[in-house]
Amino acid sequence: MSKKIFITSNLSDESLSVRAQLQEKLESNGFEIVDSISESPSLIIAVGGDGSFITAVHQYHYPKIPIVGINTGHLGFLQDIHPSDIDRFIEAYKAGHYSLMPISIAKAEVEAQQSFTLYALNEFVIRNKLSRMIHLSFKINGSWIERFSGDGLLISTPTGSTAYNYSAGGAIVDPSLDLLQITPLSPSNTNAYRSLTSSIVTAPDSIIEISPEQTDASSVQIISDGFDNQLDFVKKITITSSQRTVYVLRLHNYDFWQKVTNRFL
Ligand code: NAP
Repeated sequence: MSKKIFITSNLSDESLSVRAQLQEKLESNGFEIVDSISESPSLIIAVGGDGSFITAVHQYHYPKIPIVGINTGHLGFLQDIHPSDIDRFIEAYKAGHYSLMPISIAKAEVEAQQSFTLYALNEFVIRNKLSRMIHLSFKINGSWIERFSGDGLLISTPTGSTAYNYSAGGAIVDPSLDLLQITPLSPSNTNAYRSLTSSIVTAPDSIIEISPEQTDASSVQIISDGFDNQLDFVKKITITSSQRTVYVLRLHNYDFWQKVTNRFL
């Protein structure tokens, strides 16, 4: 195992203080802290809340290098290690007492005036950028499902199931499962419009095609993990699981369901 480690953090006072302590402890245990991931570290450590983890994954382009989070945010679903557990974490890491959990990344291919691809660790949200009702036709594996009317559609990975998806009434998903979940945002269900009101869970190889109705085509907002894209004339958004996988380091006592209980109950 290489002794090189790369640390990234948000700029809060607490995160910067934890980062300094972490660096000192790692160096006194024989690790070298590198300035860039181009120096081939064996581990990336993100200090901050879940947002710091998400930012690191996007900023470093879905790295193959394992990543772990030291949590200075709230509960921290992605950020596993509490700052008071840094010594225990270093001992466990040195002893190899951890596993690497694969996290799948979703992909959205956007057909607009210019076509491009977005990736998401948590979710994609498709809504009207003018805060008006949006009408979206969507298909799964070529089968037409519905003309959705409402605030928008949220397509979540298992990782994102505990984030915006949960707030929108979607299901919490065991992180060992691979799937995509489509959750409606304020679906309109009246004499005028008929939209499914529950989430739909699809297999990992499913192809989800979403086409904004022409009247809305100039005002679509596609948000990936909180990063906003305001787009004109969107023809189609095709969402699938991508080939990209991020590996999160988990200590052996990691307990997802305990986190769910602590955060939501
Ligand atoms: P933010 O607005 O600073 O954080 C939003 C909240 O989402 C934070 O409390 C964060 O947890 C939590 N979060 C992020 N990923 C999570 C996950 N996988 N499981 C459980 N909670 C998670 O923005 P941010 O930190 O950059 O995060 C972007 C995310 O915000 C988006 O991907 C979206 O899921 C979420 N969001 C949620 C809502 C909503 O719930 N109504 C609305 C918009 C966006 P920490 O406190 O531990 O950092």
